[in-house]
Amino acid sequence: MFNLVLFGTPGSGKGTQSVKIAKEFNLGHISTGDIFRNEIKNKTELGLKVKSLIENGVLVPDELLIEILDKAISKFHGVNGFVFDGFPRTLRQAEELDELLATRNDCVSLVLALEVNNAEILQRLLKRAAEEGRKDDTEEVIKNRLDVYTRQTSPLIEYYKTQGKFKSLYGIGSVDDIFANICQIIKRQL
Ligand code: AMP
Repeated sequence: MFNLVLFGTPGSGKGTQSVKIAKEFNLGHISTGDIFRNEIKNKTELGLKVKSLIENGVLVPDELLIEILDKAISKFHGVNGFVFDGFPRTLRQAEELDELLATRNDCVSLVLALEVNNAEILQRLLKRAAEEGRKDDTEEVIKNRLDVYTRQTSPLIEYYKTQGKFKSLYGIGSVDDIFANICQIIKRQL
């Protein structure tokens, strides 16, 4: 199995690229942000629990992630692995992911980070706010999400570097060019 963690700040293009990667390599696409947004839309118990956290750009507690992850993975059949988009975001989540994959005799194959500077990120997310109306794409919440990323998520870079699994690539350019670069890196690894 090939298990890819696509890594990067909010607005780095993870979501767009993950969908394309999943299709190209027949991987199950797991976007924890999409799962939560769906739960909120359907007004489920979980949705109600996480709504205000997400709208304020705060991370959802690790326990809830672990709960949804197992379910999300089990939904896919006949795939060649997974692309994790927006997960893990804390060290605890990374450790839990390792444990969960180990129970399936599997592991994270590669962590690929899309490098985009903060000025470009802010621009992209404000544009997305205008186009999609996501509640967590206001300037204040965006700044908070970037801050949360720096404090809680960026330590994962070291975690995966230590395991020799971390690679990064320049994330500014056309979607297709970036996708081609990603495919090249993945194919070298397969
Ligand atoms: P995203 O679409 O990946 O940017 O996620 C949107 C929001 O969902 C985040 O700002 C968090 O509030 C929440 N969320 C998504 N994935 C996670 C995660 N792995 N851990 C904690 N919170 C998450």
